[in-house]
Amino acid sequence: MSGAREALLRVAPGGVLGILGGGQLGRMLALAAAELGIESHIYCPDPASPAFQIAKQITCAPYEDEAALTAFAAGVDAITYEFENVPARTAAILSAAKPVQPTVHALETTADRLTEKTFIRSLGIGTAEFRAVDSHADLAGAVGVLGRPSVLKTRRFGYDGKGQTIIRPGHDLSESLDRMGGQPAILEAFVPFVAEVSVIAVRSDNGSVRTYDLVENEHHDHILDQSIVPSRLSALVEDQALSIAATIIAALDYVGVLAVEMFVTSDHTVLVNEIAPRVHNSGHWTQDACLVSQFENHVRAVCGWPLGSTERHSDAVMTNLIGDDINAWRALAAEPNAALHLYGKLEARTGRKMGHVTRISPRSR
Ligand code: AMP
Repeated sequence: MSGAREALLRVAPGGVLGILGGGQLGRMLALAAAELGIESHIYCPDPASPAFQIAKQITCAPYEDEAALTAFAAGVDAITYEFENVPARTAAILSAAKPVQPTVHALETTADRLTEKTFIRSLGIGTAEFRAVDSHADLAGAVGVLGRPSVLKTRRFGYDGKGQTIIRPGHDLSESLDRMGGQPAILEAFVPFVAEVSVIAVRSDNGSVRTYDLVENEHHDHILDQSIVPSRLSALVEDQALSIAATIIAALDYVGVLAVEMFVTSDHTVLVNEIAPRVHNSGHWTQDACLVSQFENHVRAVCGWPLGSTERHSDAVMTNLIGDDINAWRALAAEPNAALHLYGKLEARTGRKMGHVTRISPRSR
């Protein structure tokens, strides 16, 4: 997959990368950029952004503030983001001024579950069966075809299980649709999966693609709890999943890191659930188990540097520290073979990602 041409250099050492979004992902991107001698300018409306603590330049302004966006773009060499719901107008203003990667096209394709799943299917890759749902009649028809249980999701702005509901036998359809708050929705067949997995892939603008090893993910209350590498799945499943991610990232003509979340069924079928056009929680283990992390590889790709190794040198189990879990920081810090990453968030609210710990052991396979 390696292209002969060198990637176009956008940010050299000493240059400035603009990052939209100031959460933990923006923070870890900025830390990785710093390792390469690249300065970060973080743009985020929230004054309490964790990424603000570690960046030399910050802009605290709404994503709709055109003057602030223009000034931000003028002061950076290239722009990327840590979240997928960048308003279209914001992306358009920034793209007109400076290279923005991943592109608006990638954002648009993945922002809407209907567009995203239609795109994935067009590549010959499997997803759960789905139907668009815009009305009560659509929902009744879709449930008639896909059966129960099935999963009703908003087309946009869903993450960590937000904006979705399972339609079980006996459930009232009107009530389920009302829970979507009048937003366009999609009904998916329920996938009786045996495992949830993801692949973190990176592509440079010369077309080279690299993938990290298959990750097995366990969720708790719809939030990622643990990522385990190597996964306990067969080599056949791993090969399928890596090739699906490589096909998707190339088809999007994408530059940077993306994550593909997938279901594995008992007959070893791999179905794509969703694409995240950004660095991803299920790739945090790469910081401590690989030579070059997902964050550094994203920075390398968007800045036009050669991609770094995605090889894994250790086995890893990454555990998220959610809410009060952070109170165990002292015991975690004392653990041998554990790398502790805390995000600098002051208030440990329920369900809030406060940090993660990655436990490392020698590579088993
Ligand atoms: P999502 O918001 O699409 O990432 O879904 C959140 C979680 O809901 C997934 O990690 C799965 O555990 C579950 N889920 C989503 N879609 C389906 C489906 N079609 N069948 C079964 N479980 C699903």
